[in-house]
Amino acid sequence: MNGYDKIPEERKQQLDALFEAFSIIGDDTYVYLCDMQYDFSRWSKVLTDDFGLPGEYMYGAGAIWEEHVHPEDRNAFHQGIDDIFSGRSGGHDMQYRARRKDGEYDVCTCRGIVIKDVSGQPVYFGGAIRNHSQQSHIDRLTGLRNQYGFFEDIRSHIDNKIPMRVCLIGISKFAEINELYGYTAGNAVLQMVGRYLMDHVGNRGGTFRMDGSKFAIITETQTYYDDMERTYEELRAHFREGVRLGEEYVPLELHGGTIGIDDFITDEETAYACLNYAYDESKVNKQGDLVEFRNELSADNIKSAAKLHSIRNSINNEFEGFYLLYQPVVDAKTERLIGAEALLRWKNDRYGMVPPDEFIPVLEKDPLFPVLGEWILYTALTDAKNIQRIVPDFIINVNLSYAQLERPDFTDSVWNIVKNTRFDPQKLCLEITERCRLLDMKLLNNVMTSLRAGGIRIALDDFGTGFSSMGLLKNLPFDIIKVDRGFVQKIEEDDRERRLVYSFTEAAGIFGADVCVEGIETSGMRNILKDMSIHSFQGYFYSKPVGLDVILESLQSDSGEMCFMKH
Ligand code: C2E
Ligand code: CA
Ligand code: CA
Repeated sequence: MNGYDKIPEERKQQLDALFEAFSIIGDDTYVYLCDMQYDFSRWSKVLTDDFGLPGEYMYGAGAIWEEHVHPEDRNAFHQGIDDIFSGRSGGHDMQYRARRKDGEYDVCTCRGIVIKDVSGQPVYFGGAIRNHSQQSHIDRLTGLRNQYGFFEDIRSHIDNKIPMRVCLIGISKFAEINELYGYTAGNAVLQMVGRYLMDHVGNRGGTFRMDGSKFAIITETQTYYDDMERTYEELRAHFREGVRLGEEYVPLELHGGTIGIDDFITDEETAYACLNYAYDESKVNKQGDLVEFRNELSADNIKSAAKLHSIRNSINNEFEGFYLLYQPVVDAKTERLIGAEALLRWKNDRYGMVPPDEFIPVLEKDPLFPVLGEWILYTALTDAKNIQRIVPDFIINVNLSYAQLERPDFTDSVWNIVKNTRFDPQKLCLEITERCRLLDMKLLNNVMTSLRAGGIRIALDDFGTGFSSMGLLKNLPFDIIKVDRGFVQKIEEDDRERRLVYSFTEAAGIFGADVCVEGIETSGMRNILKDMSIHSFQGYFYSKPVGLDVILESLQSDSGEMCFMKH
């Protein structure tokens, strides 16, 4: 204890009591408190653990901590502490780098004050240290734990193999509340919802405020879907009655997704991607009914989260297992190859080939998806250049997910790839689906306009399958519409299908777009469609999606099945 007087027990108890009070206020920060007469301190345990200090209780803590302060910041720190203990200063507010146990330095802000007794004698020096490299886990508005806390909790459940059910709940049309009643009222609504969730669900699990108007629940007790659905319906009923804003009761509609996690093969990010997918389903297609993730996937649903986990890992692992197939597009008149659509595949030993429909919808909003999108574009352009050596005007079609379009750096990244591959942008066609209606129309219009200004074509994929195909065609500058194969499947026997496709070609004509019809499977279908003003065909009748080598081979040989591709 070299040189320090031992602190009496009652003074230590008083220090503890004050320290507890400091800790409550300190929230997410490290807290310290020093009895100045004995130079005896108590510091947050997390801090002493993170930085490898001797213990929570220390004599001469200032000198010990100083050893951890970066040599370049040490003088200023020393001076500050000296000023406080000599009475020259009543507090401090400084920033310095401090060395963690692992030898790395974290930037910390340290604020402290001196508390004096009635006679003006300094008694305590206490304050808080905020570590800048550590994310705060508390949402300031609602006081609930935030996303970082949410991810941490999921991870710790997985690590400790504790089964859980997670639910993500959002407030529908929250932007309208902000617009109608103002931002402050919007904040008040979030606080009320947070408060109610905590009171209502608190004893059954943890509640979290996620980004925007989303909240989450993690529960260990209600791991069955039915239980969670009951809770969700209670919440829904409560908020439908309205929350009070001034004199008014404003009804709130909710939407929600849920997932049960008990296999522990997955990680927190995959779980969140699945959860988000179910949440979007509830919002877009289920009018707010709670959607369970597992019901959404294929027969092999038990393994689906684990499978997605593998797929996500592949993205991180230099896209191992991903490859592209190309489905030829032919000119409707000559039936010669004029282009192809790149279609993504993923394969590994455990799961075999997983079709894109099974993972793209779930992953498209995942933070990892954009790098995969860039890989797809880069690979497709590189392969297309090979084909262009034989068919110079060959056009490559690449599919986009709507979430890619939303990224602020999207157009730059497209132009970079076009430049790096020295690809002629006139021969690139980007396909976007009806789901793009979820984006801000102005933003979408800007993105499309800037891509088209550089020569890139834009196609509206799966035309006719959604409610808003016509509206999109009218409001956005599409070069091509791709009529979904659902409209031609029965075209040989059903006259109404014939008329419908005809009307699509008329509509496209009004807006100056070309028409490509997908899903041509028989010569009969082709014969019917040949008389309409259709620009190109795609379908199994011509070719299934095939590897680049197959396309190159059939272009090089004079005979063979894909003779229509000859130029
Ligand atoms: P899509 O863009 O509508 O692609 C056409 C799908 O129809 C392909 O399925 C293709 O194999 C299939 N198909 C083509 N001709 C015929 C036919 O004659 N009969 C039948 N029954 N089917 C035909 P695939 O490859 O399984 O792709 C499914 C969906 O996954 C695609 O639909 C697209 O939405 C998405 N997708 C595929 N690759 C990518 C990609 O690289 N990026 C993005 N964002 N989405 C992709
Ligand atoms: Ca497509
Ligand atoms: Ca399509």
